[in-house]
Amino acid sequence: MPIDTLWFDPAEMLIGGDWRPASQTLPIEDPSTGSEIGRLGRGTAGDIDAAVAAAGAAREGAWGRMTATERGRILAAIGRMVLARADDLAVLEALDVGKPMKQAKADAVALARYMEFYAGAADKVMGETIPYLDGYTVYTLREPHGVTGHIVPWNYPMQIVGRSVGAALAMGNACVLKPAEEASLTALAFARIATEAGLPPGALNVVPGLGEEAGAALSSHPGIHHLSFTGSVAVGRLIQTAAAANIVPVTLELGGKSPQVVFADADLDGALPFLVNAGIQNAGQTCSASSRILVERKRYAEVVDRMAERYRALKVGRALDDLDLGPLISARQKGIVEGFLAMAPDGSVAARGSIVAGAPEGGHYVAPTLLAGPGPDHPLAQDEIFGPAQVVIPFDGEDEAVAIANGTDYGLVASVWTENGGRQMRMAKRLRAGQVFVNNYGAGGGVELPFGGVGKSGHGREKGFEALYGFSVLKTVAARHG
Ligand code: NAD
Repeated sequence: MPIDTLWFDPAEMLIGGDWRPASQTLPIEDPSTGSEIGRLGRGTAGDIDAAVAAAGAAREGAWGRMTATERGRILAAIGRMVLARADDLAVLEALDVGKPMKQAKADAVALARYMEFYAGAADKVMGETIPYLDGYTVYTLREPHGVTGHIVPWNYPMQIVGRSVGAALAMGNACVLKPAEEASLTALAFARIATEAGLPPGALNVVPGLGEEAGAALSSHPGIHHLSFTGSVAVGRLIQTAAAANIVPVTLELGGKSPQVVFADADLDGALPFLVNAGIQNAGQTCSASSRILVERKRYAEVVDRMAERYRALKVGRALDDLDLGPLISARQKGIVEGFLAMAPDGSVAARGSIVAGAPEGGHYVAPTLLAGPGPDHPLAQDEIFGPAQVVIPFDGEDEAVAIANGTDYGLVASVWTENGGRQMRMAKRLRAGQVFVNNYGAGGGVELPFGGVGKSGHGREKGFEALYGFSVLKTVAARHG
């Protein structure tokens, strides 16, 4: 789809219910071709000021006065409209991110699902009564923070906007969203849909732009009462520092180096699709990508061989052609990934997929690469590559598996493959991660499942009911009545 068939102008931003043209613009690149397909608004610190003011006014106005049930109804209406336009949203995401169509469509459906889930949850968050001294009645209230700031990355724009803005709106916060400069189209489209669905002016404001400009202005803004950031560790540190200056809570959803631990008794036929897909989905540009496969030594060679066979069949090409993998997001990201792959020890490449002949010259394509050889301490097994590469590492016994699995700075997700029930339970306890999967990986990404990391993967939880606690603050009321 050419970008001029868009139903909105991506150089406009949403502030206080008005679509305003940005004073400057940035190029929008299609990573499948490397060509510019439009211009994106480049928000300034002044635009962020206006957006924060508009959000504050919404909290004091119609949005702030709505009941939880009314907020839920609006979210439900947004969910229905997102679902109805899922195909349009998927095309936008494929063009903007380079995501194969099927994955882009799945993300659009997930965005609708977040709206549905938080629509239903909005009026089910309750306080408690607390038994206390004679003559008192004590209870707690869950209240919105006020104005929440949301800074999201380019790899899963729809899903991350859905989980973070959906939960914040359900609790009655007014949001200022800064999407990633590499991929803002679906955030802007979502805001159009939300407005059409009846979201009052100022409840959601969207200011695209550069991280160091609009992003930094948002994270340091004194009018923000909670920050939700998804992105890299380096920027996460800046965000937490900015939040510290204003003493506001912050949720950090950062990177990962997530392992799948395969014991010798595992059902390999069942495991194999998960082992590979978890590494190559979205061309490996997934925070919860499984970039390390740990295999009990007696089945190590067999797993490498069987994964290699799958890798050799993987095809990379244009997002709209819907192959196994699309391009990486940018020339920069491609350079980073190729830099990592250049570190592979001699003879350690077990298999590669292929870039199809018709893939446009200027696209940022990298063939998926399976590595068997780098040890657990090698940078390829320690650092987040954020590209289509997995390292297979042998281990002997549970203790070594745990030591290797937990032996990085990260702790986002992990999985264990074994038919031994006791080992499943032990490993689930011992693996250091925010989510642990037993005999699966990702559990279909359910919006219901609280998500977040430990260590350098971040802190705080989004998704599921748990996110509603993060996007609210507890007030204790103690009434003395004699
Ligand atoms: P990034 O940190 O470079 O950018 C993320 C967002 O931060 C963008 O919107 C960017 O504009 C903004 N930003 C950049 N500099 C900023 C600054 N100085 N102040 C304020 N905002 C700023 O990350 P990325 O390269 O877009 O995304 C990749 C990273 O995100 C990976 O590390 C990945 O693991 C992580 N990620 C984590 C999750 C999760 O849920 N844990 C999900 C997706 C991606």
